[in-house]
Amino acid sequence: MTTRRDFLSQAAAAAALTAAPASLLSASPPRAATRPVVIASANGLRGVKVAYDRIIRGTDTLDAIIAGVNIQELDAEDQSVGIGGFPNADGVVQLDASCMHGPTKRAGSVGALEGIATPSLVAKAVMDYTDHIMLVGEGAKRFALAMGFKEQNLLTEKTRQDWLRWKARLNPNDFWLDHDDDVAIKYSTGTINMNAVNAAGDLSSVTTTSGMAWKIPGRIGDSPVIGAGQYCDNLVGAAGSTGRGEANIKVCGGFLAVEFMRQGVAPEQAVLKTLERLAAMTEQRLLRPDGRPNFDIQFYAVAKDGRYAAASLYEGASFAVCDERGPRVEKCAFLYARGR
Ligand code: ASP
Repeated sequence: MTTRRDFLSQAAAAAALTAAPASLLSASPPRAATRPVVIASANGLRGVKVAYDRIIRGTDTLDAIIAGVNIQELDAEDQSVGIGGFPNADGVVQLDASCMHGPTKRAGSVGALEGIATPSLVAKAVMDYTDHIMLVGEGAKRFALAMGFKEQNLLTEKTRQDWLRWKARLNPNDFWLDHDDDVAIKYSTGTINMNAVNAAGDLSSVTTTSGMAWKIPGRIGDSPVIGAGQYCDNLVGAAGSTGRGEANIKVCGGFLAVEFMRQGVAPEQAVLKTLERLAAMTEQRLLRPDGRPNFDIQFYAVAKDGRYAAASLYEGASFAVCDERGPRVEKCAFLYARGR
Protein backbone atom coordinates (compact mmCIF):
# COMPACT_ATOMS: atom_id res chain seq x y z
CA MET A 1 0.00 0.00 0.00
CA THR A 2 1.34 3.44 -0.83
CA THR A 3 1.42 5.79 2.15
CA ARG A 4 0.75 9.47 1.71
CA ARG A 5 4.42 10.21 2.37
CA ASP A 6 5.54 7.65 -0.26
CA PHE A 7 3.09 9.09 -2.70
CA LEU A 8 4.28 12.63 -2.13
CA SER A 9 7.93 11.76 -2.52
CA GLN A 10 7.21 9.69 -5.66
CA ALA A 11 5.19 12.57 -7.07
CA ALA A 12 8.00 15.00 -6.24
CA ALA A 13 10.55 12.71 -7.94
CA ALA A 14 8.33 12.41 -11.00
CA ALA A 15 7.89 16.18 -11.13
CA ALA A 16 11.63 16.67 -10.83
CA LEU A 17 12.16 14.28 -13.74
CA THR A 18 9.64 16.08 -15.89
CA ALA A 19 11.15 19.43 -15.06
CA ALA A 20 14.74 18.29 -15.64
CA PRO A 21 16.39 19.58 -18.81
CA ALA A 22 16.82 16.97 -21.53
CA SER A 23 19.69 14.73 -20.47
CA LEU A 24 23.01 15.77 -21.95
CA LEU A 25 24.17 12.19 -21.72
CA SER A 26 21.69 10.71 -24.13
CA ALA A 27 19.48 13.22 -25.87
CA SER A 28 18.09 10.51 -28.12
CA PRO A 29 20.18 7.37 -27.87
CA PRO A 30 19.81 4.97 -30.78
CA ARG A 31 18.01 1.70 -29.96
CA ALA A 32 20.02 -1.39 -29.02
CA ALA A 33 21.57 -3.18 -31.97
CA THR A 34 19.58 -5.76 -33.79
CA ARG A 35 22.51 -6.99 -35.84
CA PRO A 36 26.27 -7.01 -35.30
CA VAL A 37 28.47 -5.04 -37.68
CA VAL A 38 32.17 -4.27 -37.92
CA ILE A 39 33.55 -1.36 -39.96
CA ALA A 40 37.12 -0.25 -40.64
CA SER A 41 39.33 1.77 -42.92
CA ALA A 42 39.68 0.04 -46.30
CA ASN A 43 42.94 -1.66 -45.28
CA GLY A 44 40.92 -3.55 -42.64
CA LEU A 45 39.03 -5.70 -45.15
CA ARG A 46 40.58 -8.94 -43.91
CA GLY A 47 40.30 -7.76 -40.32
CA VAL A 48 36.57 -6.94 -40.35
CA LYS A 49 35.80 -10.53 -41.35
CA VAL A 50 37.97 -11.95 -38.58
CA ALA A 51 36.39 -9.59 -36.04
CA TYR A 52 32.84 -10.23 -37.23
CA ASP A 53 33.23 -14.03 -37.12
CA ARG A 54 34.52 -13.77 -33.55
CA ILE A 55 31.72 -11.46 -32.46
CA ILE A 56 29.14 -13.89 -33.87
CA ARG A 57 30.78 -16.66 -31.83
CA GLY A 58 30.46 -14.53 -28.69
CA THR A 59 33.90 -12.96 -28.40
CA ASP A 60 33.95 -9.55 -26.72
CA THR A 61 33.81 -6.72 -29.29
CA LEU A 62 37.16 -5.21 -28.27
CA ASP A 63 39.02 -8.53 -28.31
CA ALA A 64 37.45 -9.24 -31.71
CA ILE A 65 38.45 -5.96 -33.38
CA ILE A 66 41.94 -6.08 -31.89
CA ALA A 67 42.33 -9.54 -33.46
CA GLY A 68 41.16 -7.85 -36.67
CA VAL A 69 43.76 -5.07 -36.61
CA ASN A 70 46.50 -7.48 -35.51
CA ILE A 71 46.40 -8.92 -39.04
CA GLN A 72 47.63 -5.61 -40.46
CA GLU A 73 50.03 -4.94 -37.59
CA LEU A 74 51.74 -8.29 -38.18
CA ASP A 75 51.78 -7.99 -41.96
CA ALA A 76 55.32 -6.86 -42.85
CA GLU A 77 54.13 -5.83 -46.33
CA ASP A 78 51.78 -3.21 -44.88
CA GLN A 79 53.87 -0.05 -44.59
CA SER A 80 51.39 1.87 -42.47
CA VAL A 81 50.88 -0.21 -39.34
CA GLY A 82 52.94 -2.36 -36.99
CA ILE A 83 55.91 -4.26 -38.37
CA GLY A 84 57.01 -2.84 -41.73
CA GLY A 85 55.42 0.55 -40.94
CA PHE A 86 57.20 3.66 -42.21
CA PRO A 87 59.81 4.90 -39.72
CA ASN A 88 60.38 8.40 -38.41
CA ALA A 89 63.05 10.78 -39.72
CA ASP A 90 65.72 8.87 -37.79
CA GLY A 91 64.72 5.56 -39.39
CA VAL A 92 63.05 4.31 -36.21
CA VAL A 93 59.54 2.84 -36.33
CA GLN A 94 57.42 4.46 -33.62
CA LEU A 95 53.88 3.13 -33.26
CA ASP A 96 50.70 4.66 -31.78
CA ALA A 97 47.45 2.92 -30.82
CA SER A 98 44.40 3.35 -28.63
CA CYS A 99 41.23 1.48 -27.81
CA MET A 100 37.96 1.88 -25.93
CA HIS A 101 35.65 -0.75 -24.50
CA GLY A 102 32.05 0.42 -24.39
CA PRO A 103 30.52 -1.91 -21.76
CA THR A 104 33.17 -1.19 -19.12
CA LYS A 105 33.75 2.46 -20.14
CA ARG A 106 37.51 1.87 -20.22
CA ALA A 107 40.29 3.05 -22.49
CA GLY A 108 43.98 2.45 -23.10
CA SER A 109 46.62 4.01 -25.30
CA VAL A 110 50.29 3.95 -26.26
CA GLY A 111 52.33 6.50 -28.19
CA ALA A 112 55.74 6.43 -29.85
CA LEU A 113 56.15 2.77 -28.90
CA GLU A 114 59.26 1.14 -30.34
CA GLY A 115 60.08 -2.51 -30.95
CA ILE A 116 56.64 -4.05 -30.33
CA ALA A 117 54.63 -5.05 -33.39
CA THR A 118 51.14 -4.97 -31.87
CA PRO A 119 50.59 -1.60 -30.16
CA SER A 120 46.81 -2.24 -30.13
CA LEU A 121 47.38 -5.11 -27.69
CA VAL A 122 49.73 -3.00 -25.58
CA ALA A 123 47.06 -0.25 -25.46
CA LYS A 124 44.58 -2.86 -24.24
CA ALA A 125 47.08 -4.07 -21.64
CA VAL A 126 47.39 -0.47 -20.37
CA MET A 127 43.58 -0.49 -20.08
CA ASP A 128 43.40 -3.92 -18.43
CA TYR A 129 46.33 -3.79 -16.04
CA THR A 130 46.94 -0.18 -15.04
CA ASP A 131 45.15 2.77 -13.52
CA HIS A 132 46.51 4.91 -16.36
CA ILE A 133 45.17 5.48 -19.84
CA MET A 134 48.20 6.52 -21.86
CA LEU A 135 51.84 5.39 -21.83
CA VAL A 136 54.41 6.74 -24.27
CA GLY A 137 57.95 6.19 -25.46
CA GLU A 138 60.43 4.32 -23.33
CA GLY A 139 57.93 3.84 -20.50
CA ALA A 140 55.41 2.27 -22.87
CA LYS A 141 58.09 -0.11 -24.14
CA ARG A 142 59.21 -1.10 -20.66
CA PHE A 143 55.61 -1.72 -19.70
CA ALA A 144 55.09 -3.89 -22.80
CA LEU A 145 58.22 -5.94 -22.07
CA ALA A 146 57.10 -6.40 -18.46
CA MET A 147 53.74 -7.64 -19.76
CA GLY A 148 55.52 -10.28 -21.82
CA PHE A 149 55.44 -8.68 -25.27
CA LYS A 150 58.47 -9.62 -27.35
CA GLU A 151 60.77 -6.98 -28.74
CA GLN A 152 61.58 -7.22 -32.42
CA ASN A 153 63.06 -5.16 -35.22
CA LEU A 154 60.10 -3.46 -36.90
CA LEU A 155 62.13 -1.94 -39.73
CA THR A 156 61.84 -4.27 -42.70
CA GLU A 157 64.39 -4.25 -45.49
CA LYS A 158 61.91 -2.49 -47.76
CA THR A 159 61.09 0.31 -45.32
CA ARG A 160 64.78 0.75 -44.50
CA GLN A 161 65.53 1.19 -48.22
CA ASP A 162 62.64 3.65 -48.61
CA TRP A 163 63.83 5.63 -45.60
CA LEU A 164 67.43 5.81 -46.92
CA ARG A 165 66.20 6.92 -50.34
CA TRP A 166 63.95 9.56 -48.75
CA LYS A 167 66.87 10.78 -46.67
CA ALA A 168 69.16 10.99 -49.70
CA ARG A 169 66.67 13.17 -51.49
CA LEU A 170 66.07 15.57 -48.60
CA ASN A 171 68.71 18.07 -49.55
CA PRO A 172 70.42 18.32 -52.97
CA ASN A 173 73.51 19.84 -51.33
CA ASP A 174 74.19 17.19 -48.70
CA PHE A 175 76.70 14.33 -49.03
CA TRP A 176 74.11 11.74 -49.99
CA LEU A 177 73.94 11.22 -53.74
CA ASP A 178 70.49 11.55 -55.27
CA HIS A 179 69.17 8.81 -57.57
CA ASP A 180 66.23 8.72 -59.93
CA ASP A 181 64.44 6.12 -57.85
CA ASP A 182 64.78 8.04 -54.57
CA VAL A 183 61.52 8.01 -52.64
CA ALA A 184 59.58 11.23 -53.01
CA ILE A 185 57.10 10.57 -50.18
CA LYS A 186 56.98 13.78 -48.22
CA TYR A 187 53.76 13.15 -46.44
CA SER A 188 52.28 9.70 -46.27
CA THR A 189 49.78 8.28 -43.85
CA GLY A 190 48.36 4.90 -43.10
CA THR A 191 46.37 3.65 -40.18
CA ILE A 192 43.71 1.14 -39.36
CA ASN A 193 40.65 2.13 -37.37
CA MET A 194 38.02 -0.52 -36.55
CA ASN A 195 34.71 -0.18 -34.71
CA ALA A 196 32.14 -2.83 -33.85
CA VAL A 197 28.75 -3.42 -32.28
CA ASN A 198 27.37 -6.83 -31.31
CA ALA A 199 23.80 -8.10 -31.14
CA ALA A 200 23.45 -6.85 -27.56
CA GLY A 201 24.41 -3.33 -28.64
CA ASP A 202 27.83 -3.43 -26.96
CA LEU A 203 30.44 -1.36 -28.76
CA SER A 204 34.23 -1.03 -29.02
CA SER A 205 36.77 0.89 -31.07
CA VAL A 206 40.49 0.64 -31.83
CA THR A 207 43.01 2.56 -33.95
CA THR A 208 46.61 1.60 -34.66
CA THR A 209 49.27 3.23 -36.83
CA SER A 210 52.91 3.88 -37.56
CA GLY A 211 51.83 7.49 -38.05
CA MET A 212 53.23 9.81 -40.66
CA ALA A 213 56.17 8.60 -42.67
CA TRP A 214 59.40 10.41 -41.75
CA LYS A 215 57.77 12.26 -38.85
CA ILE A 216 59.88 14.17 -36.35
CA PRO A 217 60.97 11.63 -33.70
CA GLY A 218 58.55 11.71 -30.80
CA ARG A 219 55.64 12.96 -32.88
CA ILE A 220 52.35 11.47 -31.79
CA GLY A 221 49.36 11.65 -34.09
CA ASP A 222 45.65 11.39 -33.42
CA SER A 223 45.51 7.59 -33.25
CA PRO A 224 46.53 7.26 -29.58
CA VAL A 225 44.50 10.30 -28.51
CA ILE A 226 41.25 9.11 -26.95
CA GLY A 227 38.48 11.21 -28.50
CA ALA A 228 40.45 11.89 -31.67
CA GLY A 229 41.76 8.64 -33.21
CA GLN A 230 38.78 6.75 -31.83
CA TYR A 231 36.01 7.08 -29.28
CA CYS A 232 33.28 4.84 -28.01
CA ASP A 233 30.27 5.39 -25.76
CA ASN A 234 28.19 2.30 -25.15
CA LEU A 235 24.98 4.35 -25.00
CA VAL A 236 25.49 5.85 -28.42
CA GLY A 237 28.11 4.48 -30.81
CA ALA A 238 31.77 4.36 -31.78
CA ALA A 239 33.83 6.36 -34.25
CA GLY A 240 37.40 6.71 -35.45
CA SER A 241 39.62 8.25 -38.07
CA THR A 242 42.44 7.79 -40.54
CA GLY A 243 44.32 10.53 -42.37
CA ARG A 244 46.02 13.71 -41.25
CA GLY A 245 46.13 13.33 -37.47
CA GLU A 246 47.14 16.93 -36.78
CA ALA A 247 43.81 18.04 -38.30
CA ASN A 248 41.76 15.52 -36.33
CA ILE A 249 43.31 16.31 -32.94
CA LYS A 250 42.08 19.90 -33.17
CA VAL A 251 38.43 18.85 -33.53
CA CYS A 252 38.49 15.74 -31.29
CA GLY A 253 36.86 14.05 -34.28
CA GLY A 254 36.13 10.61 -32.77
CA PHE A 255 34.38 12.24 -29.83
CA LEU A 256 32.61 14.79 -32.01
CA ALA A 257 31.14 12.16 -34.34
CA VAL A 258 29.81 10.22 -31.35
CA GLU A 259 28.40 13.43 -29.87
CA PHE A 260 26.53 14.18 -33.09
CA MET A 261 25.06 10.66 -32.98
CA ARG A 262 24.11 11.24 -29.34
CA GLN A 263 22.03 14.19 -30.52
CA GLY A 264 20.15 11.83 -32.83
CA VAL A 265 22.15 12.55 -36.00
CA ALA A 266 22.51 9.51 -38.30
CA PRO A 267 26.07 8.11 -38.67
CA GLU A 268 26.59 9.46 -42.20
CA GLN A 269 25.56 12.98 -41.26
CA ALA A 270 27.59 12.68 -38.05
CA VAL A 271 30.84 11.96 -39.92
CA LEU A 272 30.09 14.60 -42.56
CA LYS A 273 29.40 17.23 -39.92
CA THR A 274 32.68 16.25 -38.23
CA LEU A 275 34.49 16.83 -41.54
CA GLU A 276 32.79 20.21 -41.93
CA ARG A 277 34.09 21.24 -38.52
CA LEU A 278 37.56 19.96 -39.42
CA ALA A 279 37.61 21.90 -42.69
CA ALA A 280 36.50 25.02 -40.85
CA MET A 281 39.36 24.53 -38.35
CA THR A 282 42.04 24.15 -41.01
CA GLU A 283 44.73 26.80 -40.88
CA GLN A 284 45.40 29.04 -43.85
CA ARG A 285 48.75 27.47 -44.83
CA LEU A 286 47.01 24.12 -45.42
CA LEU A 287 44.27 25.48 -47.66
CA ARG A 288 44.33 25.14 -51.44
CA PRO A 289 43.60 28.21 -53.59
CA ASP A 290 39.91 27.15 -53.63
CA GLY A 291 39.85 27.33 -49.83
CA ARG A 292 39.64 23.57 -49.25
CA PRO A 293 42.15 21.55 -47.18
CA ASN A 294 45.16 20.29 -49.13
CA PHE A 295 45.02 16.90 -47.36
CA ASP A 296 42.48 14.15 -46.90
CA ILE A 297 41.03 12.47 -43.85
CA GLN A 298 38.32 9.91 -43.15
CA PHE A 299 35.90 9.28 -40.30
CA TYR A 300 34.09 6.01 -39.62
CA ALA A 301 31.11 5.61 -37.31
CA VAL A 302 28.84 2.87 -36.09
CA ALA A 303 25.71 3.52 -34.03
CA LYS A 304 24.43 1.33 -31.23
CA ASP A 305 21.58 0.14 -33.47
CA GLY A 306 23.97 -1.13 -36.15
CA ARG A 307 23.72 1.76 -38.61
CA TYR A 308 27.13 2.73 -39.93
CA ALA A 309 28.87 5.14 -42.31
CA ALA A 310 32.23 6.54 -43.33
CA ALA A 311 33.11 9.82 -44.97
CA SER A 312 36.17 11.42 -46.47
CA LEU A 313 36.89 15.07 -47.25
CA TYR A 314 37.37 14.19 -50.92
CA GLU A 315 35.43 11.83 -53.16
CA GLY A 316 36.99 8.46 -53.94
CA ALA A 317 37.76 6.84 -50.59
CA SER A 318 36.27 3.54 -49.48
CA PHE A 319 35.96 1.59 -46.25
CA ALA A 320 35.55 -2.01 -45.12
CA VAL A 321 32.38 -3.49 -43.63
CA CYS A 322 31.37 -6.92 -42.42
CA ASP A 323 27.88 -7.91 -41.30
CA GLU A 324 25.55 -10.80 -42.14
CA ARG A 325 26.18 -10.03 -45.84
CA GLY A 326 29.90 -10.76 -45.48
CA PRO A 327 33.03 -8.61 -45.84
CA ARG A 328 33.04 -5.94 -48.53
CA VAL A 329 34.31 -2.51 -49.45
CA GLU A 330 31.83 0.38 -49.64
CA LYS A 331 32.24 3.95 -50.84
CA CYS A 332 32.76 6.70 -48.31
CA ALA A 333 30.44 9.69 -48.36
CA PHE A 334 32.37 12.89 -49.03
CA LEU A 335 32.33 16.62 -48.53
CA TYR A 336 33.92 17.64 -51.82
CA ALA A 337 33.17 16.01 -55.16
CA ARG A 338 36.09 15.18 -57.40
CA GLY A 339 36.91 17.88 -59.90
CA ARG A 340 34.55 20.42 -58.34
N1 ASP B 1 46.10 9.47 -38.49
C1 ASP B 1 47.43 8.95 -38.55
C2 ASP B 1 48.38 9.91 -37.91
O1 ASP B 1 48.25 11.11 -38.14
C3 ASP B 1 47.94 8.67 -39.91
C4 ASP B 1 47.00 8.01 -40.85
O2 ASP B 1 45.86 7.79 -40.56
O3 ASP B 1 47.41 7.66 -41.95
O4 ASP B 1 49.27 9.47 -37.25
